[in-house]
Amino acid sequence: MSVTRSVTQAALLDAPGGLQALIDALGVRGYQVLGPTVRDGAIIYDTITQVADLPAGWTDQQEAGRYRLERRDDDALFGFAVGPQSWKRFLHPPVESLWTMRRDGTGVTISSAPAAAVKWAFLGVRACEIHAIGIQDRVMLEGPYPDDAYAMRRRDVFIVAVNCGQAGGTCFCVSMHTGPKAVSGFDLALTELIGGDRHRFLVEVGSEAGAELIAQLPHEPASAEHQAAADAAVARAAGQMGRSLDTAGIKELLQGNADHPRWDEVAERCLTCGNCTMVCPTCFCTTVEDHSDLTGSTAERVRTWDSCFTMDFSYLHGGSVRSTARSRYRQWMTHKLANWFDQFGTSGCVGCGRCITWCPVGIDITHEAAAIRSSPNAGKGEQHGGS
Ligand code: SF4
Ligand code: SF4
Repeated sequence: MSVTRSVTQAALLDAPGGLQALIDALGVRGYQVLGPTVRDGAIIYDTITQVADLPAGWTDQQEAGRYRLERRDDDALFGFAVGPQSWKRFLHPPVESLWTMRRDGTGVTISSAPAAAVKWAFLGVRACEIHAIGIQDRVMLEGPYPDDAYAMRRRDVFIVAVNCGQAGGTCFCVSMHTGPKAVSGFDLALTELIGGDRHRFLVEVGSEAGAELIAQLPHEPASAEHQAAADAAVARAAGQMGRSLDTAGIKELLQGNADHPRWDEVAERCLTCGNCTMVCPTCFCTTVEDHSDLTGSTAERVRTWDSCFTMDFSYLHGGSVRSTARSRYRQWMTHKLANWFDQFGTSGCVGCGRCITWCPVGIDITHEAAAIRSSPNAGKGEQHGGS
């Protein structure tokens, strides 16, 4: 997707008819539409062919270490926040074959993994997730060693954003300046307007492709009242945010507190399970594994997500550099909120709240940062130790 102009026009699409027309039009253009749907008690992302696939009338209750779906008292199609998955699972999949090798009587043949042939339309991308995709683009595409497979998958993605009308229980995007309204990085952005006798979406255009698509769909022009209603929905979500992270000087704060006693306190609770890294939409670390069959005639090299919470992640010549929970939690949080700036010029956190919700013991990155801020330099030194 290329964003060629800022949002200047707004239209109204009816739900469900107009939204179905949008899904159908994307299909006609060769896109596989992926979006939110309910499965196994959570809202996950999967193929969407009809409006009925969306989580109509569902919302999520999220708190530290807690996630539940509940019924809403209306039929909102996007009346929830982010779930355990992010768009990372498509653009940077958890398991990816890099190459396979086959040996027969004549020799050895090595085949690269086939290039992805699919064009995706992501339906229901939240503002924080657009920022997360932007961060992964910087890591995977804009560094000295671009990832060809990521580039192939990312190139043709059509993004239909959905502005949040309701904050999740662990969101803090306002303080990270990443939401709840999508302002760029999309082709189309929807705001759900529900109430009264009509259920509609205000549609803002973010690219030429988005403008071309919306022009083909039955729609009405949006009035100033519709725009005001959409703005009010987003403002309501912003006002519901129960958490915030004070980012002022956060890089210097964390880099200057490597020996803060709070790291010991959090290590008492942290299970080093790595859930926080798996659900985070910006974490990108991987490892590589080789497999072969029992006869030795075929082998495969596979790239899988890895986590800085494992001992193997920092294993070097006979030992793990980060052998304690203290050092591993500190590495993760300091990388996210501080060292990421040195590497990539941005924060590594977009305030989606997933790591808080899906931490089995409810460790909260906003609370941990605030605890260090409340008594900075409580530790002995300012160096980055390994333990
Ligand atoms: S912070 Fe929570 S989710 Fe992350 S490794 Fe520790 S226990 Fe697991
Ligand atoms: S660190 Fe936590 S809140 Fe920040 S982007 Fe990752 S999962 Fe979301």
